[in-house]
Amino acid sequence: MEGSKKLLTGIPVSEGWALAKVYLYEQETLSVREDCTTEGMQEKQMALFHDALAKAKKELNDLYASLSVEDEDKAKIFLAHAQLLEDEEILEEIQMAIEEEHKYAETAIEQVYNLYAEMLTKLDDPLIAGRAADLLDVKRRLLSICQNKEVKSLAHLTEDVIVVAHDLLPSDTATMDRKHIKGIVTEVGGYNSHSAILARSFCIPAVLGVANACREIPADEKAMLNAVVGEVTVAPDKEDELHFAKMQEVMRVLKEAREQYRNKACTLQDGRKIDIGINVGSTEFEAEDGLFDFVGLFRTEFLYMENTHLPSEEEQFQAYKAVVDRASGRMVTLRTLDIGGDKTLPYMELPKEDNPFLGKRAIRLCFAQEEIFLTQLRAALRASVFGPLQLMFPMVGSLEDIAKAKTFVEKAKKQLREEGEAFDESIQIGIMIEIPSIALIADLAAKEVDFASVGTNDLTQYLCAADRMNEAVTEYYQTDCTAIYRLLQFVFEAFDREGKPVSVCGEMAGKPESAVKLVQIGAKKLSMSSACIPAVKEALAKVQF
Ligand code: PEP
Ligand code: MG
Repeated sequence: MEGSKKLLTGIPVSEGWALAKVYLYEQETLSVREDCTTEGMQEKQMALFHDALAKAKKELNDLYASLSVEDEDKAKIFLAHAQLLEDEEILEEIQMAIEEEHKYAETAIEQVYNLYAEMLTKLDDPLIAGRAADLLDVKRRLLSICQNKEVKSLAHLTEDVIVVAHDLLPSDTATMDRKHIKGIVTEVGGYNSHSAILARSFCIPAVLGVANACREIPADEKAMLNAVVGEVTVAPDKEDELHFAKMQEVMRVLKEAREQYRNKACTLQDGRKIDIGINVGSTEFEAEDGLFDFVGLFRTEFLYMENTHLPSEEEQFQAYKAVVDRASGRMVTLRTLDIGGDKTLPYMELPKEDNPFLGKRAIRLCFAQEEIFLTQLRAALRASVFGPLQLMFPMVGSLEDIAKAKTFVEKAKKQLREEGEAFDESIQIGIMIEIPSIALIADLAAKEVDFASVGTNDLTQYLCAADRMNEAVTEYYQTDCTAIYRLLQFVFEAFDREGKPVSVCGEMAGKPESAVKLVQIGAKKLSMSSACIPAVKEALAKVQF
């Protein structure tokens, strides 16, 4: 498709250039008719239903077959959905609704699947409740077929694309097909939104906060992304394409120069060594010798977001062990579940809150969901036998939170001891410093924990009172302001006095200019996504303090 060229701008959040066809990722609303069929129409509606059923099964089996070659775990989701289409009770009820209640096929599907999903959500068992999201997914597929509409997904694409969306949920980003997604454009979000963080860690160029992107960028049109300055060129011409090729080459040369620092120790000109950590969000990450000294932030959310159910203790144990194995003797800092805010789980109904970032997220949610928290702690403790692993709690706001988190760890340890399961008895306990109320008592907190890591993404939003997700307040979200540096210096000094390590694992640590300033005020440990490591090492090796 050829359209007229235009230039849109937004916030560059993951550096790079991309040129590819646009994939407009918008789920259409599927409303069903409310009236009933007239006598004699049942047969046709029944045939329509069976036809949709057969097509849905084929689609799901095809998706399973092609995806299982690359990622068996992700592929299994489609297999589970195909099996749901065979549920006898649901099938019977839909047929009854068509035959006896004179419902249209689409209305019967909507009604029956909703009923079952609702029943499951009401059950107290979160594992079973998780199946509700699967049922609704299957319903969406059947309805789309009945109404001749396309089901969109980012999990499996057949060609290279630039994804254009209003917003991407962290669960979309976590499951997306990294091989074919060459660039990301969204209407909302900013540098510190979780989608941006994931895009950076996958090295996918991304421009967020592009006003009206879904309206302005037609599906299937070609687009060029300059995610260095934040520009999207719709329908680029020959000259743009030549420029793209040139810029790709420039980026390649720059990258090559930086890459020399990639696997070297991070040493300042005065000989001091800075420990470089890596932030990881999956069991697969670059782990060659010399790239990093420790895993400074293992975001465990991906396990919960990629699944259609709460991951079991065994599933978690396997994943945590895989990360420990991959780190090959380097310390792994496992952050316990940090859900809430912009990170939701499709299978877990979280209470609706007016200000979710100020609400029951992360550790607060874990305190309320004892089973979920203990399951994770047990899995982590069991994995601690296989290599150095420490536990870190997100969104800690007070000394009481620290004490409470420790009682959960003790409870999990006691259970494991009684069951004869091995774990590291002296596992280190740490906190994230991302709420001002804990940062300001860092001297007291340092006495209660073994280590800490500063989450500057959240700390900035709470200190500056500016939502990290809201592009309208980007100018107020000032990571580099004096207030942040003063507070961080206080935190570094407080932990130093106790002889306890403190690192920075927010996005600030991965920006060369900020990393230099952090080291200048006392940071000795910085953790970032792998894509940022070479540039930060280069900047720190060259700077003269
Ligand atoms: C942070 O808040 O800085 C942080 C590292 O955690 P997340 O970005 O996952 O909230
Ligand atoms: Mg945080």
